[in-house]
Amino acid sequence: FVSPGGSSEGHGAGERERMALSQAEVVKQSIQEVRRSLPVFPYREDLLLAIQQHQILIIEGETGSGKTTQIPQYLMESGYNEGGMKIGCTQPRRVAAMSVAARVAQEVGVKLGNEVGYSIRFEDCTSERTVLKYMTDGMLLREFLTEPDLASYSVVIIDEAHERTLHTDILFGLIKDIARFRPDLKVLVASATLDTERFSCFFDDAPVFRIPGRRFPVDIFYTKAPEADYLEACVVSVLQIHVTQPPGDCLVFLTGQEEIETCCELLQERCRRLGSKISELLVLPIYANLPSDMQAKIFSPTPPGSRKVVVATNIAETSLTIDGIIYVIDPGFCKQKSYNARTGMESLIVTPCSRASANQRAGRAGRVAAGKCFRLYTAWAFKHEMEETTVPEIQRTNLGNVVLLLKSLGINDLIHFDFMDPPPHETLVLALEQLYALGALNHLGELTKLGRRMAELPVDPMLSKMILASEQYKCSEQVLTIAAMLSVNNSIFYRPKDKVVHADNARQNFVVPGGDHMVLLNVYTQVMIMSGYSTQWCYENFIQFRSMKRARDVREQLEGLMDRIEVEVCSSEGDSVPIRKVAGYFYHTARLSKGGYKTVKHQQTVYVHPNSSLFEEQPRWLIYHELVFTTKEFMRQVCINANSSWLLEVAPHYYKNKELEDSSSKKMPRKQGKAKEELG
Ligand code: ADP
Ligand code: MG
Repeated sequence: FVSPGGSSEGHGAGERERMALSQAEVVKQSIQEVRRSLPVFPYREDLLLAIQQHQILIIEGETGSGKTTQIPQYLMESGYNEGGMKIGCTQPRRVAAMSVAARVAQEVGVKLGNEVGYSIRFEDCTSERTVLKYMTDGMLLREFLTEPDLASYSVVIIDEAHERTLHTDILFGLIKDIARFRPDLKVLVASATLDTERFSCFFDDAPVFRIPGRRFPVDIFYTKAPEADYLEACVVSVLQIHVTQPPGDCLVFLTGQEEIETCCELLQERCRRLGSKISELLVLPIYANLPSDMQAKIFSPTPPGSRKVVVATNIAETSLTIDGIIYVIDPGFCKQKSYNARTGMESLIVTPCSRASANQRAGRAGRVAAGKCFRLYTAWAFKHEMEETTVPEIQRTNLGNVVLLLKSLGINDLIHFDFMDPPPHETLVLALEQLYALGALNHLGELTKLGRRMAELPVDPMLSKMILASEQYKCSEQVLTIAAMLSVNNSIFYRPKDKVVHADNARQNFVVPGGDHMVLLNVYTQVMIMSGYSTQWCYENFIQFRSMKRARDVREQLEGLMDRIEVEVCSSEGDSVPIRKVAGYFYHTARLSKGGYKTVKHQQTVYVHPNSSLFEEQPRWLIYHELVFTTKEFMRQVCINANSSWLLEVAPHYYKNKELEDSSSKKMPRKQGKAKEELG
């Protein structure tokens, strides 16, 4: 066939058109064939009937059976979108929402963003015409703010319910509630083959519709002894499979972007060294921040004679199905949020995944044929060191955001909210306390005017407080930029393994006094103004252009909301003090004492992240954006806080003078003494 815009000698225009048409026809036909081949297809009519008969239906089906891509289409085909009503389908992950929407738009034969679209935070790819909307669970939650009864929806599908994300859990309670006074609303709760009885029970014994799956046997192999370095073990295993095993693609589960990139680099490097001794190995990463054109690549068919290896986070566990996987490599870890309700400290920790997860992962190998799963841990560890299931996120996360949202929806009694699994009492209390400290709630726990404005911004309460406070300090221009840069977190600087020194030098050039927030502001200003938003310039300075583009989009959207919450946008022109006063999260304060940094409120030992511009300087008072636990409790994105009087000025109701008193000042080592002098 003629390639679009390519040479066309020998064909007249009419013929070309006809051929192009028939090509589209062929694609369409094969798409319809694929659709009919999915396990859900034979149950199409039964399913539609069940939906007609019941308001709430639980749908259980093996991953890859067509729940996410097909069921919304069946609903569209049978007229649930009549009168411009929408069908909404939630996904816990951004990537899944985007990727599935793209696939379905293709299947329906429309441009993405028209009839079929998606909506994720800071990115709305829908239009007036959109009737099928894929979105993150968090976005549907926010829609309650503008449309408390979801009146524009005829069907809401809570997909991937088994993931039990915080937002999905809250949606359960809210949707169960509105379903009572909206009898015309259909609610579908879709889940992999896990936990469906519990969902049914929660939704007043709603019936469960089971889609029988097709599963081929999967042989499971364990290691004899624990692996010291699971990343290296993954690389070796992939190469072994590639060299010794029959054709079939391979899926590797790792915990995050950095690991995945390292793994891909190592694989590519070793393949290069082996050269023509081995057949081609296509190495493809997939993780949340991967640009969408790269995301799409994992779905393209593997050319004959080569093998594809997809290196993924647990997004590939149930959210995305890649056809053709025969081999799965599972090191048995995932990155998990955990929360200390006593100190309010949230951390992201690499932990062993649950047995349920491990079994889902193994299942990915048996979708198209008999497969093999290589577990890089011992059978003993599987039995004794892994939990049966993952603890729902609601029980291991900060609830500030959700509590603020629920309060804005007029739900005051949170203790008696209809939770499927309630959060720990202390966590709820702490969230209320923090919102009170931020001024979002009054002493009766009622939403204040400030709180109402804070809830309008789609960011964490601390960040929205910072944006709102910036007006008073006349630095909202700068603070908006910092907020935008913080929300593309940790993906601004590019640090390729073979150019570490260059990259670090480039980064050093952006350092300005005051701390990381000021550095982020400086990077943004340089990229947007000095360099004229140049890709080349970013490349030369080891800045990820994509992240800058995203920061720009986020900033634009936040700025667009300023009007609505009545914040005047003004600029502090170069003076960093007001910015730093609000840039910080006042209860994220740490103080340097003899043994190192300790948080002010809870006296917990914390460390400056090595990537920080203040790593060497070690100023006396610091405010940090977040704490992450990798090898230690690291503060990421820190800025200098001049002294305790700032804290008293910004948060007089939260800090008492006594807490801030300097008990160790006399014994300060010299270096720290110097920092203190500078700050007066
Ligand atoms: P389930 O939701 O039941 O897990 P899905 O509807 O996600 O199943 O998947 C059904 C089929 O659609 C699978 O064969 C999967 O490979 C295919 N699919 C899903 N997303 C894409 C995509 N972006 N590109 C190509 N195929 C896709
Ligand atoms: Mg799905």
